[in-house]
Amino acid sequence: MRYNFTHEDLEHCPFCGDDTYVEVEKKIVQTVDIQNCYGEYRQEWEARWNVQCTNPYCGVHPKTKDCTSLSEAVELWNKRA
Ligand SMILES: [Zn+2]
Repeated sequence: MRYNFTHEDLEHCPFCGDDTYVEVEKKIVQTVDIQNCYGEYRQEWEARWNVQCTNPYCGVHPKTKDCTSLSEAVELWNKRA
């Protein structure tokens, strides 16, 4: 599951100057051996935050590495931009 949104504190892309956006991805970290009432196994998951360039024609299309929080991803991006 992915959610994309823009964040007002983000610097523009250092390579093309375009806007950037935050992507949140739900990463399954493990499947627990317990079934719920729907017969599905319970899954433990964590959100992974990334900032990347919105421009599909950007030559570099930079992206931060998976961060565990929004503030960490924003800080990492702005340090590099
Ligand atoms: Zn760019």
